[in-house]
Amino acid sequence: MTRILHRQIGGKLPIAVGGQGVEIIDQDGRRYIDACGGAAVSCLGHGHPDIIAAISSQAAKMAYAHTGFFTNEPAEELAALLVEKAPSGISHAYFVSGGSEANEAALKMARQYFVEKGEPQRSKIIARRQSYHGNTLGALAAGGNEWRRAQFAPLLVETHHIGPCYAYRYQKPGEGEEEYGLRAANELETKILELGADSVMAFLAEPVVGATAGAVPAVKGYLKRVREICDQYGVLLILDEVMCGMGRTGTLFACEEDDVAPDIVTIAKGLGGGYQPIGAALLSQKIHDAFAHGSGFFQHGHTYIGHPTACAAALAVQKVMERDNLLQNVRDMGEYLRQKLHERFGQNPVIGDIRGRGLFIGIELVSDRETKEPFAPALKLHAAVKREAMARGLMVYPGGGTIDGRRGDHILLAPPFIINREIADEIVSRLDGALSAAVSAASS
Ligand code: PLP
Repeated sequence: MTRILHRQIGGKLPIAVGGQGVEIIDQDGRRYIDACGGAAVSCLGHGHPDIIAAISSQAAKMAYAHTGFFTNEPAEELAALLVEKAPSGISHAYFVSGGSEANEAALKMARQYFVEKGEPQRSKIIARRQSYHGNTLGALAAGGNEWRRAQFAPLLVETHHIGPCYAYRYQKPGEGEEEYGLRAANELETKILELGADSVMAFLAEPVVGATAGAVPAVKGYLKRVREICDQYGVLLILDEVMCGMGRTGTLFACEEDDVAPDIVTIAKGLGGGYQPIGAALLSQKIHDAFAHGSGFFQHGHTYIGHPTACAAALAVQKVMERDNLLQNVRDMGEYLRQKLHERFGQNPVIGDIRGRGLFIGIELVSDRETKEPFAPALKLHAAVKREAMARGLMVYPGGGTIDGRRGDHILLAPPFIINREIADEIVSRLDGALSAAVSAASS
């Protein structure tokens, strides 16, 4: 009998005992292609010798030293590397243990920034519906996923939500993409004015929405307009790249493609590739200066911030990515996989949309392609596809984000950056089998 409180109480999970390349192996020797990197985490796949060597060497040298007493080499080197490659203005890194912690830190940075600047009335956050920023109470309050929030209301942090930038659902017939992007971004201005500009501290958004909508990229021009609005009203722009960052979309930071620089960007998942739990909030010089010239410190901290072994693992992941030119493979394989998905599912009556960037791909399932009507939520089709895929030795990430107040279904693909054409073909073929089985069970 398990003594772990699993998410699904009473559910039975296979025991993962091994990982090699793109596969995870269970206790019965069954192999699963990890086509979602867990939750867009395992960017280098499993069992990578360079990362294992970096972890064991750091653990042998010095596994942990509290950052209240010491800094450490891997953390310093990782911070320098990330800042060098980050969007312009980013000057420092704050290391935590995951994505929720990164967003909590970012929100506290924003709050302290305004307190240091003598604008303590700025405390409200604006975020978007159909977003996920983590499960700790602050990050959960910021997120716009209704079913995740519902049981925990009233949440602790005052957050207001605007609509997402989700062209498949909300671009109007006859409306150009950029026109739609402007309309969607201008909702932010309306909300800021409604709340009172001097009460808002930050706008928080994922450049490419992950788990709650299924790899939905902002349309061209949307984030640029968002940046303009934030600048105009003195609101900080925080981009959550926990899922879409660190090369997942084919550029190291997803916002590079939008040519937008945030005030804070949060990263996790692919930063350490799952080899160690690590995340970071990367902040701009102006925020750092406000702390430096104000109280002289950032009023935050966790026991494991800047963990040397975690930073050593992340540093090794980033070096392998660069050495093996994996961003190029993400772009090439992303294009190939999307093309193959279009070929296989382009005419499939239950596939409404295939979208994404790089190796961050979403497939939205609908009961009617014309009306885009989702399947009945009670069918939990996304969960059925996951189950059928597991039965075929394939891991895909299921999602049931809310669409106009009800749950829809999508499947997220986020395979390791090391995949080749053969593996991409195998993913498409196993997914086809899983989808057909799940849909035919749902229709019977
Ligand atoms: N932000 C985004 C965009 C995410 O996708 C996630 C996790 O899925 C988080 C934050 C929270 O990260 P973690 O689960 O590491 O706390």
